Amino acid sequence: MPSSIRSRPEALIGPSKLPGIGTTIFTVMSQLAAERGAINLGQGFPDFNCEPLLQQLVTQAMADGDNQYAPMAGKPALRHAVAAKIERLHGCRYDADDEITITAGATQAILTAVLALVRPGDEVIILEPAYDSYVPAILLAGGRAVRVPLDHTKGYRPDWNRVAAVITAQTRLLIINSPHNPTGSVFGDEDIRALEQIVHAHGIFLLADEVYEHIVFDQKPHRSLSASAELAARAFVISSFGKTFHCTGWKIGYCCAPSALSKEFRKVHQFNVFAVNHPMQSGIAAYLEDPAHYLELAAFYQAKRDRFIAGLAATRFRALPCPGTYFVLADYRAISEEPEAQFAHRLLMEHGVASIPVSAFYQQPFDNHVVRFCFGKREQTLDAGLERLAQA
Ligand code: PMP
Ligand code: GLN
Repeated sequence: MPSSIRSRPEALIGPSKLPGIGTTIFTVMSQLAAERGAINLGQGFPDFNCEPLLQQLVTQAMADGDNQYAPMAGKPALRHAVAAKIERLHGCRYDADDEITITAGATQAILTAVLALVRPGDEVIILEPAYDSYVPAILLAGGRAVRVPLDHTKGYRPDWNRVAAVITAQTRLLIINSPHNPTGSVFGDEDIRALEQIVHAHGIFLLADEVYEHIVFDQKPHRSLSASAELAARAFVISSFGKTFHCTGWKIGYCCAPSALSKEFRKVHQFNVFAVNHPMQSGIAAYLEDPAHYLELAAFYQAKRDRFIAGLAATRFRALPCPGTYFVLADYRAISEEPEAQFAHRLLMEHGVASIPVSAFYQQPFDNHVVRFCFGKREQTLDAGLERLAQA
């Protein structure tokens, strides 16, 4: 019956492949913010435009005719530009032909890497709170997510002994994310050394989500996995131009991995997107020629971080340390004992500011009375948001 798919969908479709997964919290909060005219400090995206030069380079590429399929693995000029950037920053030489693939953002790269590597029954370790796309990717591959909490009493640092303790013969992959969304924590040298020991002892694979690689504050370096030969040999290192060049809507990123891993990655990639939009690849390749375009990003966002955190001091929110990303966690215990989701909803409805409840980054209910604010916004947006937060 044509109507029954609407009235009884589960009877016709059967069990969902992703039971328990709803619409992402970012979409929910942004939609609600738009409906209510709230100031959106929730979903992570800049509310300012990307550089005119970058727009011109993309427009020029379209005028020059880069409007048909790009090569499957990505435009060579862009792959070479990415290889040169990584070598300059981390001293690691990826082969642009065999080891770098241009993707439709980091989300597609993460899903593709997981589908390429994880087999039914494999275990994948994630550190919670974790970015929301990891678990669905693992489930779609038939794997099982094994969660290890980051220690919220110690700045959400990983406890590598706890990670090592959950490794079994079924462990296939460990997903890590530094700088970390939503907590802003960043890996230090000691984390890289601990990871080297784990990989040496257990031979697992790694997926390093490094989309905020250029947003590390206070003159600290970004510790990329690619800087460690031992880790790079077993890792997919993934990043996104959306964060670095203020163009999250372009959905373009990359995945670096040794050729044997990249080969498996591309088998999935070619039937997932085949190739990524062509003119953006051309424009970004040219834009990458000037390293200032990414090296100046940390100072740019540090000024916003400092402005926002200074403003929070005049509210009843307590900012947690923020060494990287464009997110800061804020403790609201001085305002309310409500659970995070309820508090974030009320903050939006009553005070007109959207935030993200950190509980949305956990599989099992966990509430620490903190919400995430995105400070990757214009000064006037931050100031207007702070004015409202001061009323809460
Ligand atoms: N990983 C993390 C940690 C992110 O915060 C995001 C997006 N904000 C992504 C992956 C996805 O990046 P993209 O928009 O390039 O798909
Ligand atoms: N990664 C962004 C955030 O954490 C949002 C991206 C998305 O909505 N998928 O807010």
